[in-house]
Amino acid sequence: MSNHNDNNSTIFGKILRGEIPCKKVYEDDDFLAFHDIKPMAEVHFLIIPKKFIPTLAHVSPEDTTLLGKMLALVPVLAKEQGLGDGFRTAINTGKLGGQDVYHLHIHVFGNRPGGAPLRVLSGAD
Ligand code: AMP
Repeated sequence: MSNHNDNNSTIFGKILRGEIPCKKVYEDDDFLAFHDIKPMAEVHFLIIPKKFIPTLAHVSPEDTTLLGKMLALVPVLAKEQGLGDGFRTAINTGKLGGQDVYHLHIHVFGNRPGGAPLRVLSGAD
């Protein structure tokens, strides 16, 4: 792995450096995916780039290929995790976007076949 994360003090930086464990879903040269520690659905995992990008608002033109690959990974991993019938994605961005961990991540969550559909999102709560 590159040393992009030497100065990444977030919890995801610690996971990338192997300082704290995660329940790994997938890993390649560019991405790590792991189960969320506080799942909001039967299946809930996160995909993060190994490159340290704090938020979606910090991406630069040089990141577009990486972001495209990251998005394309979503349905592949979702299907592998039993979400072939549908899933939800979220990228919380910044303080008012509800972001807690400042290392870019895509949430992927959903219920397995036979489970309840996710509730429709409805404004602020
Ligand atoms: P966000 O609010 O979009 O920044 O989401 C951060 C997510 O990271 C939350 O859903 C947390 O439950 C999750 N999280 C925090 N610490 C860990 C951890 N050590 N392993 C897995 N997921 C984590």
